[in-house]
Amino acid sequence: MRGVDDPHQMTDLPTSLRERLAARFAASRPELVAHTVADEGHTHKVLLRYPDGEAIEVVLMLYPRRATVCISTQAGCAMGCPFCATGQAGFRRQLTAGEVVRQVVVVDAALRSGELGGTDLPAGAPDHVTNVVFMGMGEPLANLEATLATVRWLHDPDGFNLSARGITVSTVGLVPGIRRLAELGLPLTLAVSLHAADDRLRDHLVPINRSHPLAELEEAVRDYRETTNRRVTIEWCLIGEVNDSHEQADRLATIARRLRAHVNVIPMNPTPGVQWKEPSRGRTRAFMDRLEERGAAATLRDTRGRDADAACGQLLASYTLGGGSRLPVAVGAAERVETVASP
Ligand code: SAH
Ligand code: SF4
Repeated sequence: MRGVDDPHQMTDLPTSLRERLAARFAASRPELVAHTVADEGHTHKVLLRYPDGEAIEVVLMLYPRRATVCISTQAGCAMGCPFCATGQAGFRRQLTAGEVVRQVVVVDAALRSGELGGTDLPAGAPDHVTNVVFMGMGEPLANLEATLATVRWLHDPDGFNLSARGITVSTVGLVPGIRRLAELGLPLTLAVSLHAADDRLRDHLVPINRSHPLAELEEAVRDYRETTNRRVTIEWCLIGEVNDSHEQADRLATIARRLRAHVNVIPMNPTPGVQWKEPSRGRTRAFMDRLEERGAAATLRDTRGRDADAACGQLLASYTLGGGSRLPVAVGAAERVETVASP
């Protein structure tokens, strides 16, 4: 029975199976503990708490004809990117496939029932989830099996029945995971968080680059595009005086052209404990102009919430700070980057 969230109501299944399913579902069923609304009803943030007490935020963004939910795959993240709030907090645990899937199910059900949006639904916004982006907490390809299972379920006609084009997986560049994702043979959107266009800077801004340097990443992305025939997105978090130089723009444009990728530039959201900031308007404009001059297709995203690619990412509820662990390559990344960043 489609759209039913409680196995007890799945009356087309045998009773014994219903009971077993109910037990499994209970273990991953989150409770909706808080809900905030921003941007005149366009952005909803929901705090979900799992039975073990772990909590994560899910963001729903409403547009005319599109309802995008931004989901998390891990509680925290071990990758330690020094500009990212989730990275600062470290890794706490993997989410199970059930827990990841639940984020979509819960938000979809709340949207359908009017609990989210309700009569204040922005004009033209759908009453159900149409797009899913893996851009919340965690690195999806570091929780590969759960991510693959979720993608399959999202796309499966007997699952959530979403078009593959409506699904975006954002990764910091875990090459083996990109290859596994390509093997699914689905035209998903792959978003690669590049942030630096040479290994020296990227080793520091995205510490996993030391394990999978740019040349290797570029090859995997090219193969992904060729296998899936899908245009890849490059994410670039623009950090003032760190990766906003003409030199980085030129190198980025070269990579984007080679990969025929679209670049999303997202001015950095300020994060507690991180002294970097978004660049001035002038430097941001100059960076965008330079990309255009060099023939890269690029869009500047709005950080103030309205934008799907900017409203999520680096999600952090206040109580999640501290206590997590990081990959050895990521330890000390924030301190070291000060010495390599050049205006
Ligand atoms: N771990 C994955 C997906 C989650 S992060 C990844 O890194 O791709 C989702 C997006 O938010 C990434 O592109 C990430 O670089 C970006 N992001 C992280 N911290 C940010 C910040 N302080 N300001 C703007 N974007 C940020
Ligand atoms: Fe993890 Fe992505 Fe944040 Fe890096 S940017 S620390 S990979 S969530």
